[in-house]
Amino acid sequence: MQTVLVIEDEKDLGELIVFHLEKEGFHPLLACDGTSGLHEARRSKPDLILLDLMLPGIMGTEVCRLLKGSEETASIPVIMLTAKGEEIDRVVGFEVGADDYVVKPFSSRELMLRVRAVLRRSGEQAPKASILTMGELVIDTERHMVTVSGEEVLLTSTEYKLLMNLAQRAGRVQSRETLLQSVWGYNYFGDTRTVDTHITRLRTKLGEAGEMIKTIRGFGYKMEQP
Ligand code: CA
Repeated sequence: MQTVLVIEDEKDLGELIVFHLEKEGFHPLLACDGTSGLHEARRSKPDLILLDLMLPGIMGTEVCRLLKGSEETASIPVIMLTAKGEEIDRVVGFEVGADDYVVKPFSSRELMLRVRAVLRRSGEQAPKASILTMGELVIDTERHMVTVSGEEVLLTSTEYKLLMNLAQRAGRVQSRETLLQSVWGYNYFGDTRTVDTHITRLRTKLGEAGEMIKTIRGFGYKMEQP
């Protein structure tokens, strides 16, 4: 059963939404202000949050920003409940980061349709997170498949691990020692030149995309977006 947290200060409206959510087979939770809403979101990790924009104390927009800014709650989709004309662009825009909004007054049918649509969308997004893209380079971490400009590149498991280490920490320099430990393992008794050799081979295999792997002289490597 999916949990939906409702953060709404108008008691009658909050209870009405809870009633409809229950009827639709959801497990609803109700919070009447931003502070308790944030607390409840962190505690219960709901599948979706319905968040009123005008709340006493912390505003809905601020609650949303805090939710989206915290690693614990960032992935929970948020539907904002707004009154007509209330800064809708900002609400769903980058600044606040809500996933969708419903304008008050809304029918229960309209709200439930929106709830289902957002939940469906967030369910589809999960596997997409396993695709790492850098320029023409695409790494499908679930299938361990690497392509450059749509062409598959065959890598050994060591080369793949090396590439993942660089790509996941893109923009950050990593020493040869760090790479040696994280790719070959702490017990590997080898030379850091092993890293250099593999980097050279990886670059060759990646072709043009290999240019994203930069050498930091006397230290190590980093990967950078083109
Ligand atoms: Ca309100």
